[in-house]
Amino acid sequence: MTAPVKPTPETLPGSGLCGACKHRRIITSAKGSKFLMCKYHSVDARYSKYPALPMWQCAAFEGESTNSTNLHE
Ligand code: SF4
Repeated sequence: MTAPVKPTPETLPGSGLCGACKHRRIITSAKGSKFLMCKYHSVDARYSKYPALPMWQCAAFEGESTNSTNLHE
């Protein structure tokens, strides 16, 4: 018996830090284009809903693991 495959969160190539952040959400348009939305915008409006990519520094970044890392505290 094989172990269940854990789904990999969808990301967007070339998105930098946002691509590994748990606050990201990938939006696919009707034409198939993909956009990265920052869900943290709903918590703090200083963060753009659609950040300019690639993002290399972000104080709100949190990694996917349970041991989240905020790189810029
Ligand atoms: S919190 Fe920062 S790193 Fe995370 S998705 Fe939003 S803009 Fe990107």
